[in-house]
Amino acid sequence: MRSGAPVQIKLVLLGDGRVGKTSLTLRYVNNVFSEKQTATIQASYLTKRVTVEGQVVNLCIWDTAGQERFHALGPIYYRDADAALLVYDLLDKDSFDRVQSWVRELKKMASKNIVLAIAGNKSDMDKLRQVNMQESEAYAETIGATHFVTSAKLNTGIEEAFLDIARRVLQQR
Ligand code: GDP
Ligand code: MG
Repeated sequence: MRSGAPVQIKLVLLGDGRVGKTSLTLRYVNNVFSEKQTATIQASYLTKRVTVEGQVVNLCIWDTAGQERFHALGPIYYRDADAALLVYDLLDKDSFDRVQSWVRELKKMASKNIVLAIAGNKSDMDKLRQVNMQESEAYAETIGATHFVTSAKLNTGIEEAFLDIARRVLQQR
């Protein structure tokens, strides 16, 4: 069902510290990037209004305030989340391996039909890439997620990832 009223979508960002969750959010919402992005930003959520296939959507993007370091995001973070964007750093194999533990956390904390997407970030540093694309795409498929390669620095792949998420959430409703 579509109406004129904006649809609310809650998207949570998950992934290890320093992978670029805040940078992706700030690039997408405010079109800015900083090399010195710090963990202390007190983001709870930022909203961006987008139109997806004629439907106005308020995309509410929940970013962490650094608590992911302790794996302690708490139930409010996950409550009523329609989608999760799992972020890893293409230069850091451990951060990719840890996506699986974030998915386990989601299974415990979030709705069963949550829409999932994975972003391998920092693609501008491609020469140092540690994660094999075939492996990450294959993994994404096993959990029903789409996979994107992004750079918050160069603004690559970001629009595509967020729009894909919004579109899939709308399809579910
Ligand atoms: P978070 O802890 O997951 O929120 O990660 P941040 O957004 O704070 O980013 C951690 C560090 O990685 C910062 O120094 C960012 O400037 C840097 N960073 C984030 N995204 C990118 C990217 O796409 N390319 C590069 N080269 N650096 C990035
Ligand atoms: Mg952050």
